Amino acid sequence: MDKVFLRAGRERSVERRHPWIFSGAVERVEGTPPLGGTVAVCDAKGRTLGYGSWSLASQIRVRMLAFGTDRVPDGVYVRELVAASLARRGASPLVEPHRGVRLVHGESDGLPGVVVDAYDGWCVVQLASAGAEYWKDEIVAALLTAGAKGVYNRSDVDARRREGLDETETTGVLAGGEPPERIEIHEEDIRFLVDVRHGHKTGFYLDQRAARAQVGAFAAGREVLNCFSYTGGFGLACAAGAAKCVENLDLSQAALDLARQNFDLLFGGGVAPCPVSFVCADVFKQLRLYRDQGRSFDMIVLDPPKFAETKAQLMRAARGYKDINLLAMKLLRPGGVLATFSCSGAMTPEFFETICREAAWDAKRDFQIIAHTQQAVDHPVSLNFPEGAYLKGLILRGAVAPEQAI
Ligand code: SAH
Repeated sequence: MDKVFLRAGRERSVERRHPWIFSGAVERVEGTPPLGGTVAVCDAKGRTLGYGSWSLASQIRVRMLAFGTDRVPDGVYVRELVAASLARRGASPLVEPHRGVRLVHGESDGLPGVVVDAYDGWCVVQLASAGAEYWKDEIVAALLTAGAKGVYNRSDVDARRREGLDETETTGVLAGGEPPERIEIHEEDIRFLVDVRHGHKTGFYLDQRAARAQVGAFAAGREVLNCFSYTGGFGLACAAGAAKCVENLDLSQAALDLARQNFDLLFGGGVAPCPVSFVCADVFKQLRLYRDQGRSFDMIVLDPPKFAETKAQLMRAARGYKDINLLAMKLLRPGGVLATFSCSGAMTPEFFETICREAAWDAKRDFQIIAHTQQAVDHPVSLNFPEGAYLKGLILRGAVAPEQAI
């Protein structure tokens, strides 16, 4: 097997079971491993520390698949990793009707660069690293063995370029038949239609499942503005929680069209209808417009896309977060609730809280933190891989009078 030798002293992170080996840690390579192929990782003295997937193009040269020397990764091993990841989600997560669940969450499930989401038994995979692509057939086989109705590829992600991977045939059916145009999943008592072909990521934001329920619980009787609504997510949770009315705001008309269908399903399913509107607009501009019009709300949700991909983009991202949070705080009525999120991995929860604090100073409002939110339980974070914690949120409640101490 090809070998990668680390510089002296650079074995620490592998010994601590961190899955990434950066280019600067590599002293030399013995052999010419193929893209995504398995290499033995050795310390400077030649001692084998484990095995990982090779990627010459990426700054992350090796992603670990196995630590220690007990198992040399092969197809059987990868299938076992997938099966173990599924088993952590319940006895047979692919068989439960209408379940939407992340089955494999990359590094934190021991499968670097591999994401698998399932919607009513249909699997959607995102293969974002060379090793993930290399083991594609084994991953698909494991999913079929576990009962997948079919496996659809949504590996149309920028990360593939950094990995030197082919970016042409990244979407389409990998196994089984064509998935339905719309797949229905159930979350609490809410039904969502998911478009796995054209939707964002694999089609749906499963990571906000827990937060949607937390936010919905504060919605009763409130006029809600759901910013960055996508297919309705938080707005549906608020309507199910007896909100007075819900306005959904998003740049994507396709997402709003699906949101409308999801609200129809909710109200058809027995939840008392409340007035709902859908506005296709840029949140940054629309919040300013509402400020100028003197509009106000009892509850605002801010769930923007990733503003920062890397640490280098963090300060620019911070300005974006502060801007929308400040505007939203000003639009809130006394006693209003702001549910605000960041899915930028480079943004720490502490920094996000600081940004919100500064926004509140500028808005001249006092808030209490009534909940911290994080990604749903099927998006676990390996204790050895803090980078896996990317989603954070705060639910804030405003003072009854502006600038009144709480
Ligand atoms: N809250 C949603 C997920 C939001 S994803 C849920 O629970 O399912 C982020 C959304 O923001 C996407 O739908 C995207 O279309 C939208 N978006 C991105 N930039 C935007 C902008 N400047 N103004 C309005 N919407 C935007």
